Amino acid sequence: MLPSFFESVLQLIVRTSTDLPPDVRAAMKTALDAEPAATRSAQALTIIAQNIDLAADAEGAICQDTGMPTFEVHVPIGANQVWMRQQIREAVKEATRRGKLRPNSVDSITGKNSGDNLGPGTPIIHFDQWERDEIEVKLILKGGGCENTNAQYAVPVELAHLGRADRTLEGVKKCILHAVWNAQGKGCAPGAVGVCIGGDRTSGYTHAKEQLFRTLDDVNPDPRLAELEASIMATVNNLEIGAMGFGGKVTLIGCKIGALNRLPASFFVSVAYDCWAFRRLGVVLNASSGAIERWLYRDPSHPIIPMLDQAGFTRTGREVALRAPLSEAQVRSLHVGDVVLISGRIFTGRDAVHSHLMKHEPPVDLRGSVLYHCGPVVVKEGETWRITAAGPTTSIREEPYQGEVIARYGVRAVIGKGGMGAKTLSALKEHGAVYLNAIGGAAQFYARTIERVDGVSLLDFGTPEAMWHLTVNEFPAIVTMDAHGNSLHKDVEQESGEHLAAIGG
Ligand code: SF4
Repeated sequence: MLPSFFESVLQLIVRTSTDLPPDVRAAMKTALDAEPAATRSAQALTIIAQNIDLAADAEGAICQDTGMPTFEVHVPIGANQVWMRQQIREAVKEATRRGKLRPNSVDSITGKNSGDNLGPGTPIIHFDQWERDEIEVKLILKGGGCENTNAQYAVPVELAHLGRADRTLEGVKKCILHAVWNAQGKGCAPGAVGVCIGGDRTSGYTHAKEQLFRTLDDVNPDPRLAELEASIMATVNNLEIGAMGFGGKVTLIGCKIGALNRLPASFFVSVAYDCWAFRRLGVVLNASSGAIERWLYRDPSHPIIPMLDQAGFTRTGREVALRAPLSEAQVRSLHVGDVVLISGRIFTGRDAVHSHLMKHEPPVDLRGSVLYHCGPVVVKEGETWRITAAGPTTSIREEPYQGEVIARYGVRAVIGKGGMGAKTLSALKEHGAVYLNAIGGAAQFYARTIERVDGVSLLDFGTPEAMWHLTVNEFPAIVTMDAHGNSLHKDVEQESGEHLAAIGG
């Protein structure tokens, strides 16, 4: 067999999870330079840039959500795909054991996490044959937050702020703009979209995701699609959704469009949204040994250029220092736009914990607590745990539960990303609590604010879903929903809706 194949795939996984490709780095650098200093978006992009540098230096996961590993493999005719599939699965398992991938494979019936990223449908591996005497393996790691913002339109369709989208390229443009607007900060903007015009519901989404294997700076060989991509990129940033949906000049870093034939009765526009943590790499392997002959998307002979030439997140002196547990008076004194630095004990909790709290008492006293929407990457070292990546997860999934959790158990602050809805906003006001937005994907940055892991509850849910008890030191976050009924997310959605009507209507 191919003696180096396993090691080559393992290297590919580790590099993809920890080091963004040069085209994405360049686009994020341009985004950083475009935002005026001291704006919320610029602050968010500075933390993102610092996080990208930290991840590459320490070979740590760029984002704690290492997503659905999706492999596209080209092999010479006659290659043993059964053996290769098994080796790729073993490499995924090993990368998970080393903490480079978070265990992300969950049984959809029982909710049990397999713990090693293996299970029916995970990882995704597609094989194709070609007539070249070499093996190509490409990998994309696309997380759940941005996956949840994917959209598929059956055209013609009526769209908010845009009116009717017809079966024309103008109609397709409306669908793409609508999908980006709808994502707001939930998919960790600034993101990139892969789009498929046509196909059926299944092939449309597959082809849309395949577009994300193109580099951000390429030019579509089809001049009609090249023009559409350019037209989207020329206007989409006028939406002013900005980094993390904070409002700002850069909303999208790339738009890549493909087309498939369709049935006469169907016209789908499928949009695959990827976040700024756009992790995609590839390798070409020797067909006899499986050794890496060259990398795709990156040139290892060129040194990695750091994203930041300055200090990174710097204090202005106006930050509000908070030590958990918090009092009602403390949180009621906060307003949208305040930057806080949290120290002391915080608890993680996301989908499984919130659902559990609807029927059971919490395993710890949550009065005055700070609840962090986070599914960290955790490594067990002897009897202790170490968190290697710990950014926020998309909060809107907890909207059905959050208000009640705050009311019942006295939670004073919720940290997450992307904002929450009207029910939570009203609970914040009624019970005296705040929503704090951390920067999505900045997993290395936030992991460094964790002083220690004090304990864990509900570990049966799997490491990403368990409730971790953490002591943090000066964890920075921005108040985006306060106890006075204000929500930055609501304001940006409304204002960007008006911009959407102006540019696409
Ligand atoms: S950067 Fe945001 S959307 Fe992307 S994988 Fe991480 S948490 Fe999910």
